[in-house]
Amino acid sequence: MSQSSLIPLPVRPDLGFIDRLTELAGDSFTQCYQCGTCSVVCPFAFQGTGLPRREMALAQWGLKDELLASPNLWVCTTCGNCARVCPREVDIPGTIRAARELFLLERDPSRELATAFENTSRHGNPLGQSARKRADWTAGAGVEVPVMAGLGRAVEVLFFTECYWAYHPRGIEAAQAMARIMAALGADWAVLGTEERCVADSQRLAGESGIFEEAATANIATLGKYQFTRLVTPDPHAYNAFRNLYPELGGTYTVQHYTQFLAERIPDLKLGRVGSRRVTFHDPCYLGRHNGEFEAPRHLIEAIPGLELIEMGHCRANGYCCGGGGGEIWNSGFTREHVDERLSEVRVREAVAAGAEVLAVCCPFEVSLFEDAVKSTGHQGQLEVRDIAELLDESLRA
Ligand code: SF4
Ligand code: SF4
Repeated sequence: MSQSSLIPLPVRPDLGFIDRLTELAGDSFTQCYQCGTCSVVCPFAFQGTGLPRREMALAQWGLKDELLASPNLWVCTTCGNCARVCPREVDIPGTIRAARELFLLERDPSRELATAFENTSRHGNPLGQSARKRADWTAGAGVEVPVMAGLGRAVEVLFFTECYWAYHPRGIEAAQAMARIMAALGADWAVLGTEERCVADSQRLAGESGIFEEAATANIATLGKYQFTRLVTPDPHAYNAFRNLYPELGGTYTVQHYTQFLAERIPDLKLGRVGSRRVTFHDPCYLGRHNGEFEAPRHLIEAIPGLELIEMGHCRANGYCCGGGGGEIWNSGFTREHVDERLSEVRVREAVAAGAEVLAVCCPFEVSLFEDAVKSTGHQGQLEVRDIAELLDESLRA
């Protein structure tokens, strides 16, 4: 994608648009001085999109039509690497999110995104699966998975499964692995089962704050029926919402990502030796960069006898995005029309170049995204994609 001109002339600012963006995202975008530092670290930098410097200029100048017409608005994954380096502390992902919200007030999203939104509203999950089947994954776990409604008592861990672990075939495998780990720990835990519905943080980041707020209201009401010490989830986006957004909406909990919960219990896990493999770890943007957790997943990998953890060049705070954040998991057809290579494919090449035999992940979007990328880049048989829960389960059974 080439951007021949940054700002179209003559400039006709829409001051009302600037006001509406400011109401939704704050006014940090007005402080942008076009240094371009953000565009250098954006995962799309090498694809010539101009993200996000160009979009910040369009926002700052109130060029509503140009900003809303920019494909970049829907290519951005809200990964946050740009904001990490911005010398003016511009909330770039927040400004992109706000512009998407204003876009949706008057225009239609891509067909893929519209379907995900509609599925979430109608079925409580973006995959369009039956809400009644949300707990079906528990049947194949090989251990009992307690459900809160049937227990009638407080538990230590309320496990919020989220949609991809509940419904996606590769997510179900990770969820069942997690259940076996909890059983091995003798954990006092339960799931919400069919009472759970999508947290919809990715829908919010894609501009659908209404769906997010409706889902949050329902989930907070459901969680309010039960007593639990901590809320644990495998989804970094749900973790982000529970930790940073639910308190403002009346839901305050002790929240942990599943890697944080398990890392505290490494001494209680009787981990056996698995075959020797070099493993690299992909930091999920909404666990690492957005919420500061880089160590727990690494501690778990390092605790498994036989695995050697190696790092890719892009890791920790400078981790590379998988391409699925900010609602992009459902918008890949649109994005593929506007960029030359998927971010998941770039990341798989980086893992292979680092010498990894296993790409370890801990975000429910990532196993299938990266497995597709392993195939499309021709690395089948060379790189395996495994959730950390699957690696631990394998080690417990070794
Ligand atoms: S790094 Fe910050 S100040 Fe520099 S162009 Fe990007 S948004 Fe603007
Ligand atoms: S949030 Fe990530 S994808 Fe979006 S502009 Fe910033 S660095 Fe690029």
